[in-house]
Amino acid sequence: MKTTILKIDPENPDITLIRKAAKVIKNGGLVVFPTETVYGLGANAFDTEACKKIFKAKRRPADNPLIVHVASFEQIYDVAEYIPKTAEKFMKKLMPGPFTMILKKKSIVSDVVTAGMNSVAIRFPEHPIAKLLIREAGVPIAAPSANISGRPSPTKAEHVIEDMYGKVDIIIDGGDTLYGLESTIINFTTDPPTLLRPGPLYPEQLQEIDYVYIPEIAKGLKSQERPLSPGMKYRHYAPSKKLVLVEDLSKMKEVLEKYKDLDPIVLCPKERIELYKGYKIIVVGSLENKFSIAKNLFDVLRAVDKMEGGIVVAEGFDDKGILFSVMNRLRKAASEVIR
Ligand code: AMP
Ligand code: MG
Repeated sequence: MKTTILKIDPENPDITLIRKAAKVIKNGGLVVFPTETVYGLGANAFDTEACKKIFKAKRRPADNPLIVHVASFEQIYDVAEYIPKTAEKFMKKLMPGPFTMILKKKSIVSDVVTAGMNSVAIRFPEHPIAKLLIREAGVPIAAPSANISGRPSPTKAEHVIEDMYGKVDIIIDGGDTLYGLESTIINFTTDPPTLLRPGPLYPEQLQEIDYVYIPEIAKGLKSQERPLSPGMKYRHYAPSKKLVLVEDLSKMKEVLEKYKDLDPIVLCPKERIELYKGYKIIVVGSLENKFSIAKNLFDVLRAVDKMEGGIVVAEGFDDKGILFSVMNRLRKAASEVIR
């Protein structure tokens, strides 16, 4: 398939280019677009055949549902059967933004989008290009992250080109995404609501709005048998290289020694590189600005595959604030966790 790359400035978006992409959506095609979280792979949410193409392009299992993106509060009512009071509270505070709510779906939403469930995931993004694209398309846009299934989510146009060039009609290059982590997902079909995936919005911030149940599995540990959300059972965000996550930092030296024949790459924040003299190192942001760790994480997980070195040994972080969400992704990316 021929892929057209459209470079659009998010600060001053060219509406003729947006309309070109919106037309592709209306005609049943695929458009990759930037959001404030990660890049999304979009299709008309009301066009079942178009949505099937998303699964094919990503090689995504059919039982992993898609998030439906809207550009107004009114559009939420087009896809959701009703909005419970608690959901409304979160909606008013967090939308538009990096937040997804699971609500009971209207029957117009195809089973392909929701993987056969009677609930639907809804997000109202804040990114100017995403908002304009949805508005110009005139329909909600179903969009998972624009990566090949299992790979780290794309946070830069070059990541999207790596994974999706030749598989989609249009790639909108709108520069690097702001948060670098996928949206925070809360399921409002349970009482109390349940956190399914932490993201740019982390537990402490959510609890300030209203009570949300935070299950152990939100930490990203794979031990739980029954996934709370269909997509949760798959290995995620992983580089091709084996990644060992060391949560007890006093064990770093011991683990590096154990894997020394594999020529390990140490993944750590800027402040700690001195500790690993003589090793290959990749820096993931700074402890001084914890959001930089979230923002750089997926880029770094892609970059290690291009480096020399046979294994990645990553430092863990405390499960606090935004680092709770970072640890969720790192644990899912890890093939071994040392606690
Ligand atoms: P992605 O857009 O690639 O980050 O994936 C979207 C994620 O949203 C999926 O992996 C699911 O875990 C979750 N999701 C989407 N729809 C639903 C739903 N109806 N119920 C529960 N989780 C959902
Ligand atoms: Mg994804």
